[in-house]
Amino acid sequence: MTKQPIPTKIYLNEDEMPKAWYNLRADMEKLPPLLNPETRKPCTREELEKIFCKGCVEQELNDTDRYIAIPDEVREFYKMYRPSPLVRAYWLEKALGTPAEIYYKYEGNNTSGSHKLNSAVAQAYYAKQEGITSLTTETGAGQWGTALSMASAFYGLDLTVYMVKVSAEQKPFRREVMRTYGANVIPSPSETTEVGRKILEKHPGTGGSLGCAISEAVEKATTTPNCRYGLGSVLNHVLLHQSVIGLESKIALEKYGVKPDIIIGCAGGGSNLGGLIAPFMGEKLRGEADYRFIAVEPKSCPSLTRGKYVYDFGDTGRITPLMKMYTLGHDYIPASTHAGGLRYHGMNTVVSALYDQGYMEATSVEQTKVFEAATIFAKTEGILPAPESSHAIRVAIDEALKCKESGEKKVILFGLTGTGYFDLFAYKRFNDGEMVDYVPSDEEIENALKNL
Ligand SMILES: *Cc1c(COP(=O)(O)O)cnc(C)c1O
Repeated sequence: MTKQPIPTKIYLNEDEMPKAWYNLRADMEKLPPLLNPETRKPCTREELEKIFCKGCVEQELNDTDRYIAIPDEVREFYKMYRPSPLVRAYWLEKALGTPAEIYYKYEGNNTSGSHKLNSAVAQAYYAKQEGITSLTTETGAGQWGTALSMASAFYGLDLTVYMVKVSAEQKPFRREVMRTYGANVIPSPSETTEVGRKILEKHPGTGGSLGCAISEAVEKATTTPNCRYGLGSVLNHVLLHQSVIGLESKIALEKYGVKPDIIIGCAGGGSNLGGLIAPFMGEKLRGEADYRFIAVEPKSCPSLTRGKYVYDFGDTGRITPLMKMYTLGHDYIPASTHAGGLRYHGMNTVVSALYDQGYMEATSVEQTKVFEAATIFAKTEGILPAPESSHAIRVAIDEALKCKESGEKKVILFGLTGTGYFDLFAYKRFNDGEMVDYVPSDEEIENALKNL
């Protein structure tokens, strides 16, 4: 298929970086709109602009423009750490003895240690443009909080981060990175908001969840003058910003005449997965090419594989707009597993619709299996992966092993969303043989879904 030998790292030049984000919704059937939680009518621009920056709201509501220009200032910031490498996993292939070709797009090459910076810089840029002076947000594993701290520092914005309590306890150094960039970091649920106090009353001693932290951050943003809220996943403008991952991957693969057969991404709120698959999915939707897409989620938080496709709140406190999505219910508080970035009850509406319409598959994996895969990857490819990313590694390895059995020479692409340097507590549990798998019972899931 290819004439040129494929290098281990396929780098693009800065001028080959995409100049526009790709809006997958332009190639999809119209999605069910966001609904106002009180009136249950479609959210208006004005309502959303009370929570989010105008630039983000405009993108959130735009389902017609296929390409949306990346502002020059954002593109300049991207150049600090992009284009990110697309790596041919020669050593992993060799260790597995597979005839498959494995590629991964590596997004961990910045201080936030993940792809989250791609959206953080865009959100902070629009806030600054509009004269907003402060932002609030939540963070689970800490990557998003760090990313928005970096972007806020760059644009001179004040930032308050509600950090899920278990993560704040497990990753105290994450907090210091955020504080170094000037952010005020508050473990959530906290006494600083009405919704936080309510959650604490109902669930004393809870380790928190992304759903709780989102409620707190939104409340703070809507009660503070000239302040807006930034979300690191789930919403469609975030997915749009993350399309840079897929666009770069596609350009890099096309340089060498490589076409992936299987594209795999881990799925928390769906942003890296949606961004990675976007341009490939666009081709599939337009009937120009075919690919297999696989979303990978934790067995402990299986929104696609065991949730329901219904309208639900994005947060535990029921103050965000309602979204039609695969969800475990806004009351679902996932077990304290080590992939904090995947502990979210719902899933982005684009990813949910594509899954519902059969364009994409989903699977779930246990965390011990995930860390086994992470260990194989670290030893062969030299990168210590984030637990979240390792969900995709697990399934990429499994698919490559299937090829070994069948002798098929498939091309596998997966998203390596970040590094695991702040997840050493989790690695310690695994290395000490103390990691346990948590799989919720049907009863637990039914209970959480009851309130929908
Ligand atoms: C946040 C995060 C994820 C999951 O978020 P998505 O929005 O589903 O992409 C995955 N990997 C890493 C490293 C993260 O920080």
